[in-house]
Amino acid sequence: MSSFELRPHHGLCIAFFEGKGYSSDFIKNMTDKIRYLNTDNPEIRLVLHTDSICSACPHNQNRICISSQKVLCYDKTVLHFCGLQENHILLWKEFQNLVFLNILRKGRLSAVCKQCQWLQICSEKSAAFLTSCDKYDKIDL
Ligand code: SF4
Repeated sequence: MSSFELRPHHGLCIAFFEGKGYSSDFIKNMTDKIRYLNTDNPEIRLVLHTDSICSACPHNQNRICISSQKVLCYDKTVLHFCGLQENHILLWKEFQNLVFLNILRKGRLSAVCKQCQWLQICSEKSAAFLTSCDKYDKIDL
């Protein structure tokens, strides 16, 4: 069975998703994929190209993101901070935990998501997370 393909920076998008996005199809797909990840905890393969989230995005044109250079930089920074590499395969919750430990808990969100239109929303949520750490405590290790 093939692994679920995920761009590394989507680990951050998923952490703070609140039902907003680029189109209604994008929002529905994102909601469905998050439910699947959190319910089934599948193996994921970290890819540096369009993925399962991008599949319903209006910015995905012939399988290339119109902001490809910017999001590639996000992806590579997430891999670097988490000590991972392209095509690394691991369980969704293992990846989620690495993102929390190596990026969110260390206050590195803005170091990844430079110039992202959603950064303000995610930063506020990340700050709330850092204050309470409730969300981290709920992650299955
Ligand atoms: S196509 Fe680009 S903007 Fe759309 S979800 Fe993928 S990386 Fe994000």
